Amino acid sequence: MIDQINAILPQTQCGQCGFKGCRPYAQAIASGAADINQCPPGGDEGIIELARLLGVSPKPLNTQFGHHKPKSVAFIVEQDCIGCAKCLAVCPVDAISGAAKFMHTIITSECTGCELCITPCPVDCIIMKPAPIYTNKSSTLKTAQAQLAKRRYDARCLRKENENVEKAERARKQKEALIKKQASSMQQQ
Ligand code: SF4
Ligand code: SF4
Ligand code: SF4
Repeated sequence: MIDQINAILPQTQCGQCGFKGCRPYAQAIASGAADINQCPPGGDEGIIELARLLGVSPKPLNTQFGHHKPKSVAFIVEQDCIGCAKCLAVCPVDAISGAAKFMHTIITSECTGCELCITPCPVDCIIMKPAPIYTNKSSTLKTAQAQLAKRRYDARCLRKENENVEKAERARKQKEALIKKQASSMQQQ
């Protein structure tokens, strides 16, 4: 059921629903912890599909979570970018390319328009522009974009999870080494 709900969600990964991405929101809907009308990017169309899947009545979007608006993509005004990499750290689908102290750029075809990179930018050089790919309203293109975003989000989550495991392992080894060092210095005394 979680997968079926997640397949309906737009994969913008913006967190406006109150969860850290579409899948956590899908899990919350499946468990009854969240309502079906909390996703502004999905809008009424998404709510109707969710209601159909779950066999409940559709309801209007809860605007406490935001308003539905046309799809957009981020764009970096490159001459103003100072290369701080703060945007890189927050992009949920790794759609930003760049390295510390170098100019960054957005990979437009991979940007979901989540806007999460706007606030961390210290020089306000990230702006939103209408997404060119959605102007023809093709549902096939929409689905392909959502699937790509889902794959990139899943890959990023896995990478973060692995990084956290490695970090915890490093900390554990450091602690172990410290305890051994303290024990050996106590023995010598
Ligand atoms: S698109 Fe944004 S608001 Fe909608 S489910 Fe995904 S993370 Fe939540
Ligand atoms: S580039 Fe910015 S707007 Fe686009 S997906 Fe990444 S964080 Fe979201
Ligand atoms: S946050 Fe802004 S200044 Fe920093 S790397 Fe990204 S675009 Fe450039």
